Amino acid sequence: KVQQEGGGNIVSLSQANHKALSKKALIEKRLIEALHHKDLTVMYQPQIDLSTGKIDAVEALVRWEDAVLGTVPPNELIPVAEESGMIHDIGSFMLEKACEQAALWSRNGKPMKISVNSSIREFRDNNMVKKVRQALDKYNCPAHLLKIEITEKFALEAESEQSIIRQMLQLQNDGIVFILDDFGTGYASFRYMQLLPISELKIDQSFIAGLLQQEKPQKLVHGMIQFGKSMDIRVIAEGVETKEQLDLLKKLGCDAVQGFYISYPVAASEIDIQ
Ligand code: C2E
Ligand code: MG
Ligand code: MG
Ligand code: MG
Repeated sequence: KVQQEGGGNIVSLSQANHKALSKKALIEKRLIEALHHKDLTVMYQPQIDLSTGKIDAVEALVRWEDAVLGTVPPNELIPVAEESGMIHDIGSFMLEKACEQAALWSRNGKPMKISVNSSIREFRDNNMVKKVRQALDKYNCPAHLLKIEITEKFALEAESEQSIIRQMLQLQNDGIVFILDDFGTGYASFRYMQLLPISELKIDQSFIAGLLQQEKPQKLVHGMIQFGKSMDIRVIAEGVETKEQLDLLKKLGCDAVQGFYISYPVAASEIDIQ
């Protein structure tokens, strides 16, 4: 196939490859520095609980503005961090920030739950329970204010790894809630629903995007909400960008919403706690 494409293409292909490689290497190099200087920041995106109409939780999202690379979005940063092992440090950093912030809001009399995204690699260390407990202890943060998001891909792999299930169960026992993120994006397995302690589902934004235009996404979202109800699992819709989507999700019985229509991810000081 390569030969058919001719020499010119081979050269440009390998150039593109080389570029991608050196970009990765550069990200890795700069990331070591950034972690060392604690140059990463956290933005918080509010979620509205539809039974009260109030913000009851926020999702912590990593942000990195590098002097050389400029803004490096999580979709570029996280894969590099996972490959290089630096995801452990990012995970610790995010956990600590979340616990510090949740404890602060709680002390101010306006408790707010914070969810943190996690990577399966953090659990493969067999160190996650200790890591989470240390972060909670350090800031005197009540465990029930912390939620941990795992992706469907994570869940699919974890269902056959006893040590990961054990750590999740221990953390759940401590009062931490697990959210299944990006629900519906290709790894749906009902086996892990049986094995893993999942209390909330986050419907992936791709389903919300098509909600009003097409019949199928609407039926799927309706089905996912019904599934959540029958399992006693709270359902959050992610990527809500319009009032029409919000209204329809309410009608379909969704429990909570998150998205640009409610708020972009913002600094902690901008979260308006009612
Ligand atoms: P995610 O966990 O599914 O997070 C939601 C993403 O959707 C965020 O992108 C958020 O800014 C974006 N978003 C929120 N509302 C809307 C909306 O209404 N419309 C659209 N189009 N997008 C919306 P972000 O911050 O770029 O993060 C991308 C992904 O990177 C996250 O997806 C998560 O998987 C990962 N990530 C972010 N922070 C961390 C972290 O600290 N640790 C780990 N392991 N992964 C992270
Ligand atoms: Mg998430
Ligand atoms: Mg998601
Ligand atoms: Mg996503």
